[in-house]
Amino acid sequence: MGKKRTKAAAGAWTADPVELLRVGQDFDLASFDRAGTPGWEGDKHSAAAFMAERGEQLSDLQERLFADGKSGGTRSVLLLLQGIDTSGKGGIVRHVIGMVDPQGVALASFGVPTAEEREHDHLWRIRRQLPPAGKIGVFDRSHYEQVLVVKVDQLEPPELNETRYEELVAFDREIIGNGTTLIKVAMMVSHAEQGARLQERLERPDKWWKYNPGDVDVRQRWDAYQDAYAEMFARTSVDEAPWHVIPADRKWYARLAVTELLHRALTELELGWPPADFDPKVELERLAATSRA
Ligand code: AMP
Ligand code: MG
Repeated sequence: MGKKRTKAAAGAWTADPVELLRVGQDFDLASFDRAGTPGWEGDKHSAAAFMAERGEQLSDLQERLFADGKSGGTRSVLLLLQGIDTSGKGGIVRHVIGMVDPQGVALASFGVPTAEEREHDHLWRIRRQLPPAGKIGVFDRSHYEQVLVVKVDQLEPPELNETRYEELVAFDREIIGNGTTLIKVAMMVSHAEQGARLQERLERPDKWWKYNPGDVDVRQRWDAYQDAYAEMFARTSVDEAPWHVIPADRKWYARLAVTELLHRALTELELGWPPADFDPKVELERLAATSRA
C-alpha cells in the first residue's frame, strides 16, 4: 500500500499519450470519455510535478528551435487548438506555452472574420499567421472553424462545405511541406462540465469578461457541434496530420497531455546547438586582451 502511494506520488505515463490520443480510423467521439486521464498513472499533484520537469525541458528545446531559426534553419512548430468555448484552449496557452520564452512564440487567435478578412478567401488570414522559422506557433481556433461553426451555422452553402475537408487537409500538407511540425489538438469537454464552467463564468464577476451570450447559443447546438467534430475527425485525421483528441474535463490532464505532445514534437526535431560562425578561441583571446586588471 505504502509502496503504491509512493509510485502514484511520482506519477508517470504508463502508455504513450501521443499514440493513445491520436484519432485513428476506429475513433468514436460519442463514446469518448471526456473525464478520462488515459495513460497517466498518478493524480493532479503528481502531474504538476511532472509538468514542471517537462517545462524545463520544453524551455531548452524551444531555445534550440529559436537558435536554429536564427542560424538559417527552416523549421517551426505549429500547435493548433480547437475546442468549444470553455474547453480550456486559453489554459493551454497560459499553462503550457507559458512555460517557454514568449519571444519564441507566435500566438494567433481566430474569431469571427473581420470585414477585411471577409474580402479574401478563408485561408488568407491563416497564412498570414503561420509561424516563421524558429518559432512555436499557436493557433487558438484555426482554419478548421470552416467545418465547425461555419458548417453548424450554415454560413456558406452546404456544397461548399463538402469540398472543405480535402482543402483543409491539403493546406495542412502545405504547412508541413514548408518545414513546420503540425500538432492538431481538439479539446473535448463534456456537456455537464461545459455547463458548470459557463455557470461559473456567470457567477463570478472576475470571469464575466470571458463570457459571451453567444456561448449559450453554441451550447444549444451541442449535438450539431458534436456531429461536426466527429465528421472533422473522420475526414481530416490523416497519417501525416492526425488529430489528437484531449479529454478536457480535468484541466490538469489536458495540460499535461498537450505538454507531452509538444515535448515529443520538439524532441523529434533532434535539434543541436548551431555552430559558431566565429572562432571562439580567437574571441576569448580578444576578450582577455581587454582586461584592465
Ligand atoms: P473566442 O474564441 O471565445 O474568442 O470566440 C471566437 C468566436 O469566433 C467563436 O464563437 C468562433 O465560433 C468564431 N469564429 C471563428 N472562426 C470563425 C469563422 N471562420 N466564421 C465564423 N465564426 C468564426
Ligand atoms: Mg469564447
